[in-house]
Amino acid sequence: MKKVLIIHAHPEKKSFCSALKDQAVAHFQTAGAEVKVSDLYNMGFNPVGDKHDFLELSNPDFFKYQAEQTNAFQKDLFTPEVKAEMEKFLWCDTLIFTFPLWWFGVPAIMKGWVDRVFAMGFSYGAGKGVYDSGTFKDKISFAVLTTGGPEIAYGPNGKNGNLETILYPVHHGMFYFVGMQTKNPFISFSPARLADEERKSELTRFTEYLNQVKNSANLF
Ligand code: FAD
Repeated sequence: MKKVLIIHAHPEKKSFCSALKDQAVAHFQTAGAEVKVSDLYNMGFNPVGDKHDFLELSNPDFFKYQAEQTNAFQKDLFTPEVKAEMEKFLWCDTLIFTFPLWWFGVPAIMKGWVDRVFAMGFSYGAGKGVYDSGTFKDKISFAVLTTGGPEIAYGPNGKNGNLETILYPVHHGMFYFVGMQTKNPFISFSPARLADEERKSELTRFTEYLNQVKNSANLF
């Protein structure tokens, strides 16, 4: 974990989720790593995957997003916004998503980052494999998230269901799909309902998590 890229999706820089992101940055920098952050709200990142991703279209009469992604990868036709994120992703050996759980998933701005950056041709397809044959199998990935619901609501008989299932689209459908080694997530449940001291304990627990995540078993 020498080159760490954090994709951060929280609209408030003083939020607890942003504090987790800041702590991850400090942790890896102290350990001697280089860290880059794509703070998507701060960047005003456009999450909408569309024709504007490309400098030129191969078929202006019928827009097929994946075909245009493949063509753009082969002919260097991605716009600078998309290309800059792809270059950061290529650069990193560790990819971290930091986000609040929204509607049992990642916020739209983060989903859009994946739609646009994990493009066909660049990260899968057009001769590139997926999962164990995926392009990015040397990279490590993990999610760091906060929730509104308490831990019990995500427990064995909890009303929200279990988070392993809820996070499957991220772990399996995004990280592992493009070949990355996927670690267990760090989840801070209901930080808004905790006392300040309890939130400080969560930050300590996060440091412990970061210390061991590299050597922990892969989920996928
Ligand atoms: P915040 O409210 O920003 O932070 C909590 C407190 O921590 C604040 O008082 C802040 O001042 C304090 N704090 C910040 N930094 C520090 C620090 N360094 N030390 C100590 N305290 C600090 N929840 C679910 O469980 N499931 C869902 O499906 C879901 N869907 C949602 C959909 C939408 C559209 C929205 C807006 C919310 C949804 N939520 C859901 C709730 C959401 O997940 C939580 O509100 C969010 O994860 C809480 O984290 P936060 O960082 O935003 O908390």
